[in-house]
Amino acid sequence: MVKRIVVLGAGISGVGTAVLAKKKGFNVFVSDMGTITDENKAVLLNNEIDWEEKKHSSARILNADEVIKSPGIPDNVDLIQQLIEKEIPVISEIEFAFRYTKAKIAAITGSNGKTTTTLLLGHVLKSAGYDVLVAGNIGVGFAFSLAERDYDYIVLELSSFQLDGIKEFRSEVAILLNITNDHLDRYNYKAEKYAESKFRITKNQTNRDVLIYNADDVKIQSLSSNAKKIPISLKKKQMEGGFYNNSEITINLNNNTMTMQELALKGQHNIFNSMAAAMAARVFEVKDTVIRQAMIDFQNVEHRLEHVLTVHGIDFINDSKATNVNACWYALESMTKEVVWIVGGVDKGNDYAELTEMVDKKVKAIICLGENNENIIEAFKGKVEIIVQASSMQEAVNQSYALSDKQDVVLLSPACASFDLFANYEDRGLQFKKQVRNL
Ligand code: ADP
Repeated sequence: MVKRIVVLGAGISGVGTAVLAKKKGFNVFVSDMGTITDENKAVLLNNEIDWEEKKHSSARILNADEVIKSPGIPDNVDLIQQLIEKEIPVISEIEFAFRYTKAKIAAITGSNGKTTTTLLLGHVLKSAGYDVLVAGNIGVGFAFSLAERDYDYIVLELSSFQLDGIKEFRSEVAILLNITNDHLDRYNYKAEKYAESKFRITKNQTNRDVLIYNADDVKIQSLSSNAKKIPISLKKKQMEGGFYNNSEITINLNNNTMTMQELALKGQHNIFNSMAAAMAARVFEVKDTVIRQAMIDFQNVEHRLEHVLTVHGIDFINDSKATNVNACWYALESMTKEVVWIVGGVDKGNDYAELTEMVDKKVKAIICLGENNENIIEAFKGKVEIIVQASSMQEAVNQSYALSDKQDVVLLSPACASFDLFANYEDRGLQFKKQVRNL
């Protein structure tokens, strides 16, 4: 009997999974509670894959041999509970696609810095001439790409939701960047549960594998792993590992030391990301000269501390991707001028107290742009002289321009999700850039 695969959710990862499953000869059915985009419908049609939208036909779904669920669907919905009760395996795209690759994999997770580090490592490996797929939350997707062909190396960005859906997935290199509270709404507001999800990245690693981890993060220090653990630190020298001291990065692996000074990316957090990527590249035996050069010529990623324009001496910086307090802390930390800060959106339970010291040092005015402004005003009133509210990006940018002097910087770093005034963080960043160009 041909194995019956049901894919729940027809976004990029679901459709990619369906195409891969079909190519591997399975009987595939895709079901989405929402509407499926025309583009994705066309892909399903071209690949002769059966699908439904705006409903889940439970009889057919509960008849599956295996279900691959989009990371967007939480475990506590009825249908998933029924599948679990019937002991039908529910896995993620990552777990499924992993079965069809012989590549050496570097998997990257953390609360912040995943995309940057993933792209950075991808860039270094490509610069070395390796055959590399960069996937995860990036590009056309892991399964989709593997449906085309296999690669020698895969650099994979993994969110905690994706890690929740793995069973056998294992990577030669795992990178755990940091754990700060984010997405707690999906983990019953339990920080340990969220951390456990991230720790799953090393769960199936063996003593031939490597775990590159943040030695400065107390939540991570004590993590046990079968893999060889390699620390990265911005604060302390490491015997074997990566560290930063006196403007110099040192990477030491197997008693072999390299140093780097110049990086394309600015800010402490990016020094950290660069050290982690450089260490992973060394594990994959990329030459030191190639690593150094690739770190210099890497092009920054859109919406992450992206310099937009300088208008009358005022720098405008788009950090729309900073959707939590920690990301915002690092953005502020990397500012070298007085800051007019545009912040706000949908608050996922933020503790702004973590930013007090940084705001004290750097911020001259705050513009609140979002649904949950009260917490921001409460946290900073009396500490920052000027706090105003805006109800559109246009208003926020105009206010920021009026409030700043030559030599200041206007920073959009919202510390919040974007689903109030904007479609997503990209839309928010694009609108910011458009309004800045209109000044
Ligand atoms: P992710 O993919 O994990 O969301 P990104 O690489 O897209 O991370 O970066 C998102 C934001 O987080 C950036 O705008 C930046 O300000 C901040 N950031 C990047 N790297 C780090 C890091 N290592 N630690 C803390 N914050 C970071």
